Amino acid sequence: MSELIKNIKGTKDILAQESVIWQFLEVEIHQFFQKFGFSEIRTPAFENTNLFVRSIGNQTDIVSKEMYSWVDQGGNNLTLKPEVTASVVRAYIQHNLGKKFSINKLYYIDTLFRRERPQKGRYRQFRQFGVEVIGSMYPEQDAEVIALAYNFYQSLGIKNLNLKLNSIGSKEARIKYKEELYNYLVPYKNKLSKISQNRLKTNPLRILDTKIDFESEILNNAPHIIDFISKDDKQHFNDVLHLLDHLQIKYIIDYNLVRGLDYYCKTVFEIQSDKLGAQDALCGGGRYDYLIEELGGKPAPAIGFAAGLERLILALEDEENQPIKYPDIYMISLGDEAIKVSFSLAQTLRNDNFIVIMETLRRSLKAQMKEANKLNSKHTIIIGEEEIKNQKAIIKNMESGDQKAISFNQINSYLKK
Ligand code: AMP
Repeated sequence: MSELIKNIKGTKDILAQESVIWQFLEVEIHQFFQKFGFSEIRTPAFENTNLFVRSIGNQTDIVSKEMYSWVDQGGNNLTLKPEVTASVVRAYIQHNLGKKFSINKLYYIDTLFRRERPQKGRYRQFRQFGVEVIGSMYPEQDAEVIALAYNFYQSLGIKNLNLKLNSIGSKEARIKYKEELYNYLVPYKNKLSKISQNRLKTNPLRILDTKIDFESEILNNAPHIIDFISKDDKQHFNDVLHLLDHLQIKYIIDYNLVRGLDYYCKTVFEIQSDKLGAQDALCGGGRYDYLIEELGGKPAPAIGFAAGLERLILALEDEENQPIKYPDIYMISLGDEAIKVSFSLAQTLRNDNFIVIMETLRRSLKAQMKEANKLNSKHTIIIGEEEIKNQKAIIKNMESGDQKAISFNQINSYLKK
């Protein structure tokens, strides 16, 4: 027997039951984000590898070990998108969007690929939604983006949200801070984990992300990046905080939040949920005022966030009111003539927006009834020889068990009541 082919590790089939929540969330995202005046952008699934190397940075985990890259038959170095910001910025520059609109407020829902170690809430193919706003340098733009993310989770009824914020200032501040942090950590080098020892050499800021207790203790007395940022950047950060206070959005300032990617500056933030365990970040984002220029565009300030859809679904799992759609009607047909009649009736019912399932296995009445029950159908419509003779179908309410004979031409109006 030939060997069964299975899906690739870290990827996932979304089966019928689960796809309902995906569809629901996708609709919610479109509606919610459009209420803020954001427009959707869709970028290709793969890009030139260089785009990600230049934007995300060589020292990051994504670029150094997680990208799915290959050389195609034409000798091009290509990569499946590991994140969306770089692609949106590329499209913004390429299509001259900055000239067309003084501010671009964009959102996306996309599929990303990273060769990470798979675990609950962490996959190799995953979905993100998010926004990128290009054009405004002002703190109200930071506040709007943060509020959009926060309010979206609130609108879905997710409780226990932790919004963490920090400011990492300008590039110069970061270079200076990196040095200070390095100097602070060097005496503890031998106490650090192997991974952190490596990061000390390559990117000491990443050590701040540690979840290891003894490393967190060492970091307790480490210098804070916020003490290295300019007066203007501090003012900007305070203005963002005031606006969040005004909007009654609760936050905590997390001095160790720096976010891994090279392109961030000034405000960075993350929203976490208590329910998610080790992979607790629902979304993360920040300003990237230099990226557009670094990728060859006219300088423009920008801010955005990216949010995981799988994590959102995990956080929603225990919430009530799961948006599951059950069928309205299961058509039970017994005999050739009944099949034809059922087909026509199903069509008129669907025109009235009922969800109608047709039997196509020619099973017994009992088996069809069992199936209707299994699918949680609200009603069954039973049509056999007798019903065709009388031009009346039996409509059964599956919850109450009541049933009634209704003329074929009155079924729609009967069910609409
Ligand atoms: P990042 O692009 O790394 O800032 O991630 C933004 C958000 O995307 C995270 O807060 C997660 O919700 C989600 N995310 C990132 N990586 C993964 C992954 N490998 N699997 C599932 N979700 C992810």
